[in-house]
Amino acid sequence: STRYAQFKLVLLGESAVGKSSLVHRFVKDSFDEYRESTIGAAFLTQTVNVDENTTVKFEIWDTAGQERYKSLAPMYYRNANCAVVVYDITQAASLDRAKAWVKELQRQANESIVIALAGNKLDLESDREVDTSVAQSYADEAGLLFYETSAKSGENVLELFTGIAKKLPID
Ligand code: GDP
Ligand code: MG
Repeated sequence: STRYAQFKLVLLGESAVGKSSLVHRFVKDSFDEYRESTIGAAFLTQTVNVDENTTVKFEIWDTAGQERYKSLAPMYYRNANCAVVVYDITQAASLDRAKAWVKELQRQANESIVIALAGNKLDLESDREVDTSVAQSYADEAGLLFYETSAKSGENVLELFTGIAKKLPID
């Protein structure tokens, strides 16, 4: 027997942490150093095989991180089944912004939303400002999945989306 389900996923996080690059790596398996910043939001889809009989299709809303688009975010997360909240491991302030998004999601989004925290730019280890253990403890406390990723190298990107897919309710 085969199982198939589709879910809405929203990406949130400060501008320039790599949200669009993560989606691009996941959907196209490529990386573009000079990605233009997102205006409003972009929509993409991609499927993952959770196991040999289970396929999950993600309908992805990649939001713009800029403050001027902040009021639009509820339109994208209101009906979302899952969210990836992204920060940049080389920018400590971006984790604070990610925590604020998590709080907002936990208050305003679907009660059953699956949230993953992604510490992106793992390839820039020498510029790291956020310890893995600090982010992991926060994620555990807040009940989030947690991955450190690199959209540039591709490290852990498929693991991130597959990890979310495994947490989603599939009949
Ligand atoms: P967004 O505003 O959150 O969507 O961020 P973008 O995806 O537009 O990326 C912002 C900048 O960070 C771009 O110059 C990207 O090339 C760069 N970037 C994104 N992900 C990574 C990564 O994993 N490693 C490195 N070194 N740079 C990245
Ligand atoms: Mg973007």
